[in-house]
Amino acid sequence: MTVLNSREELEKYIAEQKKLQKTIGFAPTMGALHAGHISLYEAARKENDLVISSIFVNPTQFNNPDDLEKYPRNVKKDIQKLEDSGFVDAVYIPSVEDMYPGETKSKHYDFGGIENEMEGKARPGHFDGVGTVVEELFRQVQPDNAYFGDKDYQQLAVIRKLQQNLDLPLKIHGVPIYREPNGLAMSSRNERLSPEQRKKAAVIYDTLLKVNDWFRVISIPEIYRRVEEIFEKEDGFVLEYFTIADEETLKETDFFYKDRNYRAFIVVFAGEVRLIDNMHLA
Ligand code: AMP
Repeated sequence: MTVLNSREELEKYIAEQKKLQKTIGFAPTMGALHAGHISLYEAARKENDLVISSIFVNPTQFNNPDDLEKYPRNVKKDIQKLEDSGFVDAVYIPSVEDMYPGETKSKHYDFGGIENEMEGKARPGHFDGVGTVVEELFRQVQPDNAYFGDKDYQQLAVIRKLQQNLDLPLKIHGVPIYREPNGLAMSSRNERLSPEQRKKAAVIYDTLLKVNDWFRVISIPEIYRRVEEIFEKEDGFVLEYFTIADEETLKETDFFYKDRNYRAFIVVFAGEVRLIDNMHLA
């Protein structure tokens, strides 16, 4: 596996690969890699000549400086995990200057409103930060296919819009949420949970499964009430938001229309750790 430590190294590498007409599959990350990330590369491996990873903790998508500072970083271990997976040909590890020459600042995007729902409300400016770094990575890496997790479903929707709006010559793929054996969605933040919290956090997935059982069976206000009740009783866990939204517009719904698809979104604090999950309702 090739480690590319600067924009210059990346540009040389990409130029060589393009000359050889290799197709490129790409999945960006912020490091602290786990099996969920690796599943993106497994998907990419099946459809591309070359698979490229990137590791960059993007400062502009954090609205909370404390969260940015506490974000787990272990590049050496990450490189080893990518290498051991056998799915990845190269990893790009840019500096802040490589990604933001000049000022470290987001661009402003119009994603048609989806950027203002849920995470957009909870984390102002977050999706401008995500859009800015992903656009720049796409321009530098020039992938044919890019892979993002359903875990960050709203982010995936924003990136699909980014690709359409800018007419970028690549295809975006969503990859199913990879979970721990107890159902907790894998996340770099899980490392900050105590063993006890990690075990008890199974309640998030269990709740989503219940919501799916209740889908089109009980009323929406009653579903919300039951979800709130579950977390009121769960010591050490605080529900930030629970939303059932239209899968396309990401707008909260108060009625299940026959011909629309819906998804449940949940954010829970386990102590200080913010955990996010979602599930397609069927
Ligand atoms: P992050 O490093 O958290 O920015 O995530 C990088 C990519 O990995 C994003 O596309 C995430 O949606 C994806 N990802 C993170 N956790 C998971 C998971 N448990 N299952 C599938 N994809 C994931």
